[in-house]
Amino acid sequence: MPNRPTFLTDLSLKQVEDLLASFGEPAWRAKPLLAWAYKKRVASFDAMTDLSKTLREKLSAAITFPSVTELEVQESRDGTRKALLKLWDGRSIETALIPSSKWQFTVCVSSQVGCAIGCPFCASGRYGYERNLSVSEICDQVLYFARLLGTDETISNIVFMGIGEPLTNYLDVLSAAEHLNAPWGFGLGARNITISTAGYVPGIEKLSHERLQLGLAVSLHAADNALRNKLVPLNRKYSIDKLIPACSSYVEASGRRITFEYALFAGINDSLEQARQLAHLLRDMNCHVNLIAANSTHESEWQAPAPEVVEAFESELKRMNITVTLRRNFGRDIKAACGQLRKSC
Ligand code: SAH
Repeated sequence: MPNRPTFLTDLSLKQVEDLLASFGEPAWRAKPLLAWAYKKRVASFDAMTDLSKTLREKLSAAITFPSVTELEVQESRDGTRKALLKLWDGRSIETALIPSSKWQFTVCVSSQVGCAIGCPFCASGRYGYERNLSVSEICDQVLYFARLLGTDETISNIVFMGIGEPLTNYLDVLSAAEHLNAPWGFGLGARNITISTAGYVPGIEKLSHERLQLGLAVSLHAADNALRNKLVPLNRKYSIDKLIPACSSYVEASGRRITFEYALFAGINDSLEQARQLAHLLRDMNCHVNLIAANSTHESEWQAPAPEVVEAFESELKRMNITVTLRRNFGRDIKAACGQLRKSC
């Protein structure tokens, strides 16, 4: 196994300045250099044409760019794209680009190779967990898609809703979010970057003290412990009675509204009684519920309810004064929808 290279997008502005200083170059060159990667969307040091050839050679000898390479890309009828990307150690991950409007897109990034949580309805954890993704491997998923887009098209949102549990890869996820937010980096507003968690309470607590005002989504899927233990096995460690207070503290400390994701599975968590239980659980919190009709993976057990059942569940939540939206399912035909991304095809 080769040693892990250092990739350009692993580095902060300060680290790039230090690297340049070690070559005898002035610090001010760091920002234009990073702008080539994050803003001008090039994919090699050679394409950074206003840097001297000597500097480009020194850079290539010291660091590598980019950290992911395309193995395959598929496009859905609805415009969603899913890419299989190869990592430096031969492993691979999937990542998705979802249209939010005609010219704007959301990138759904992965944070780990595989996933340790083991939700039975989700394809991402089917083959277990292999390793965390690094700062560069996260940032470069976004830059990969940025390069595919036309000049009029922009990335308006980044969601950590691909493979993995982002809050158990806290440091790299937070640094990646910083690079994606920083003016010297990708420059996207922190409010347009959302971290989704299966309910890793220590991570939620830490996040509420961060300077960066990221969005937070919690995959709830059930309002009682017995059912949630089955749907999201992390609940056995961080049960609803620990999770909900941690979410309330987050809302209080950050001043931000939290999103709860609730995937509806036919006959499992879609009854009106369960809608009322959910509304009751969330009644005092500044939050928003995002309903997702389940996407099918291998197991026939996990099917979406009929549209009228979904509608009735949504109406019941509304009736009980819960703010709720129904998420459209993008990319199902290419298996790029929620819970369908996996570490390799
Ligand atoms: N581990 C994090 C990040 C993954 S986000 C988390 O759990 O939040 C992916 C979202 O898709 C989660 O809300 C997940 O529960 C949901 N999901 C997984 N499989 C799904 C399926 N088959 N149908 C609908 N949503 C699914």
